Order: sequence, then structure tokens, then C-alpha cells
Amino acid sequence: MAKQQTIQCSFCGKSRQEVKLLIAGQSGHICESCVENAQEIIAQELLSNVPSVGAESAALSIKKPIEIKSFLDEYVIGQDDAKKILAVAVYNHYKRLNQRVENDVEIEKSNIVMVGETGTGKTLLAKSIARMLNVPFAIVDATVFTEAGYVGEDVESMLTRLLQSCNYDVSAAERGIVYIDEIDKIARKSDNPSITRDVSGEGVQQGLLKLLEGSEVLVPPQGGRKHPEQKLIKVNTQNILFICGGAFDGIDKIIARRINTNAIGFNVNKGLQEYQQSHLLQHVNAVDLKHFGLIPELLGRLPVVTYLNPLDAATLRSILTEPKNALIKQFTRLFEIEGIALQFEPAVLDFMVEKALEYKLGARGLRSICESILNEAMYELPSQEVSNFLVTLEYATSKFNLSKLSLLKVA
Ligand code: ADP
Repeated sequence: MAKQQTIQCSFCGKSRQEVKLLIAGQSGHICESCVENAQEIIAQELLSNVPSVGAESAALSIKKPIEIKSFLDEYVIGQDDAKKILAVAVYNHYKRLNQRVENDVEIEKSNIVMVGETGTGKTLLAKSIARMLNVPFAIVDATVFTEAGYVGEDVESMLTRLLQSCNYDVSAAERGIVYIDEIDKIARKSDNPSITRDVSGEGVQQGLLKLLEGSEVLVPPQGGRKHPEQKLIKVNTQNILFICGGAFDGIDKIIARRINTNAIGFNVNKGLQEYQQSHLLQHVNAVDLKHFGLIPELLGRLPVVTYLNPLDAATLRSILTEPKNALIKQFTRLFEIEGIALQFEPAVLDFMVEKALEYKLGARGLRSICESILNEAMYELPSQEVSNFLVTLEYATSKFNLSKLSLLKVA
């Protein structure tokens, strides 16, 4: 009888009657709510004990630049120069995070600008890097920002995305990487300081300065515009790596003017000249970006400038089939789920590339072209008893010509 009364939770002291369940151990008991509490404590403890990035243990998982590049090769075709520069920058980023504080040589970060036509893989490179990293990563669009006091978002809100990507763990965010897309859209509207305020151009560039160079900034936790009643989160940007990307439409003319390649010459190999014209971007430097409208102070904080090549037919052809999640692989999988083996005549792939080039749709257009050719098959075949489907050139041409895409042709 006396023994019956002593049965109680050894943790909270509640008796058998007060709880739903009492689990017996060797010399005690535990009730269901104490189990739940214990589980929460375990989760919290394990989370806080996960070695943070930048801690000694993370050093072990750093990939060497060559490994980083070969990882990028799985997803992005070509663009070797940009890949190498990114690989080195990311590798150095890790090294900087791991350096001992007492070391007297302070390694400064090297933020990067990537210049390349739209659809050449800038965002894809940034996303692929994010896949591999174990530091917080955010992609933001420069066009949404305006100078403080105007309609739009404060530049600081780009750090909100970074904070969100790591569950508001400030110290993790302080070691993260931010990719700023469309940086060219915040170029100064004219080379001369204007009389009217340029709130989404130069104003934003000014705002970016303090973020890029590394300082303590106050970030609105939900993004958008800061307002006085809001509790702000303090983030130090000293170790945050910024990678910027933009198409910089028309910069080729600025480069050409600088290196004087469009001088008309006799005896000039026309093919070579055309090649040089289309590959002018490889000569891009900070001076060209300044002429384009980025302010010198901003360029000073973006010391690494790299470029992406325009995509030629051979590259587009590889993009269709080679990357890990290549388009053709994706569509083949879609049909496979339906129990249909999808195959393409090689000429169909060439046809898609040809159309993407002809319609100036770039790699982004390959998907729309693929969709336009396969849409009807994807509509009809699931209701039919078919186990394989071969896309012939004739089929592809007829479906493409019937689609709205064929109306897009640019002069
Ligand atoms: P942007 O340079 O405008 O940021 P994206 O990276 O968004 O271009 O590219 C658009 C799409 O085109 C990507 O999702 C990808 O499917 C394809 N693509 C572009 N360039 C490449 C490339 N070099 N290798 C593989 N796919 C590419």
C-alpha cells in the first residue's frame, strides 16, 4: 500500500493520477509531459551545439577551388573564367572565416561583380554555389531598393533575406553570402551628377556602400522599409561576401571604345573581328563599369570583376543534355513517371538550339521551345496506352510552328 503511493514522476513529482502516462525506469518514473519537455531541451541543445560555420570543424569541409569548380561544372556549362574566380572567392571566404582572430594579418574580403548577357548563367552560378555551401546564402534583386525615404525597400532589407535563410541566427548570417542580381539597374542615370534625385540608382549605390565595406547595420526583421516602432536586428557585414551580377546592356560599346577594336582596318579577318566583338566582355574592367554608371566608391568595394560568355550553339546544345538537371533529362523523367520512354532524334535538339538562337531567346528560351514541342504529347499521351514516344524533326517542326512562340521572331 505504501509502495503504491510513492509512484510518481521522478522529474516533476506528479502522481500517477495526475498524469496520462508514467514510464517506469530502473529506479524511477517519468511522465509524458516531462518526456516532451526533455525532447525539446535535447533539440535545443543539439541545435546550439551544431558546429557553426567558421568553427574549426567547418574547416574540414572546405572544398578546394578545383573541387568547387568541378561541382559547378555539373550544373553550369562553360563559363570557366567566372567559375574559377567564384571558386577562389568562395574558398578565400572560408579561409577568412577560419583565420585566427589573434593573427595580425587581417584578410579582407573581395566582393565580386559578374558581367554577362541575360540568360548566360549568372544566377545559376550563384544558386549552384549556394547548393554546395554550408553558409547562409540569399539572392536579392537590386531593382526593388530605393534610397531611404522613398517608395521601395531599404537596402538593409537584403540582409533580412540572409537572416531568414538561417532562421535569424545573426552570427551565422554574419558569415553568409549575398548575391545581388541586376546590379546594372542601379547605375547612375547619367555620367553627370543630376539635379533631380536619382533615388533608385545612385541613391541605392550610396546605401550599398556601408553594407559592402563591412559595418554594423540595423536590419528590419521582416524586410521592407524600416519604421521607428520596429525592433531592428544589428548585423555586422564585415564577413559577408557580396556577389553582384548584371547584364550591363551596352557595356560592349564602352569596352570597344576603350580597347579600340572597332577601328576599321583593311586586311582584318572578318571572322576574327566578329568573334572579338561578341567576346568583348572578357576585357571588362572597373573603368568600364564606372562609365556605365557605377560610382567609384562602390567599385572600390567590388574589387573582383569577371564576365560570362554569350552562349553559342554548341553551348546551348550542351545545356540541353549535359547538366545534372538538364532540360531533356527533366522531360524524359516527366514521361518516365507516366511509363513512357521519351526519345529525341538528334536533329530535334539541333532544331531547338537553332530556334533559341534565331529568336534570341538564349538558354532561358530552350525550356519554352521544349514545352511548345512537347505540350500536346504531354496532354494526350497520359490517356493512351503508349510505352515509348520518339520526337522526330518533322513532329517538332510542326508543333513549334503551330505554337505562339513562332510568332515571337525578332527582326
Ligand atoms: P542570368 O545570367 O540572366 O542570371 P540565369 O542563370 O537565370 O541567367 O539562366 C537562365 C537559365 O538558363 C538557367 O536556369 C539555366 O537553365 C539556363 N542556363 C543559362 N546559362 C547556362 C549555362 N552556362 N549552363 C547551363 N544552363 C544555363
